[in-house]
Amino acid sequence: MGLFRLLTFILVVLVAWRMIKNYQAKVKADRPQKKIPVREKIVKCEYCTTHIPEDEAIADGEIWFCKQEHKELFYQNNS
Ligand SMILES: [Zn+2]
Repeated sequence: MGLFRLLTFILVVLVAWRMIKNYQAKVKADRPQKKIPVREKIVKCEYCTTHIPEDEAIADGEIWFCKQEHKELFYQNNS
């Protein structure tokens, strides 16, 4: 009877171990993939210092402007 109890114990441990492993795998699979949003680069208008996304800004080399008007005004004031 001692051997039977030992085998039963081993079986229970193995089943429990598999359940834990399955649970861990499930938890891992269910975990939502954290999407890291692609942060838009924010640039500063050199004329009015407004911060705007890069794709909405007007670039002039390393200098950024929120609109064409400000680009023109900036160069008018600096010439
Ligand atoms: Zn501006």
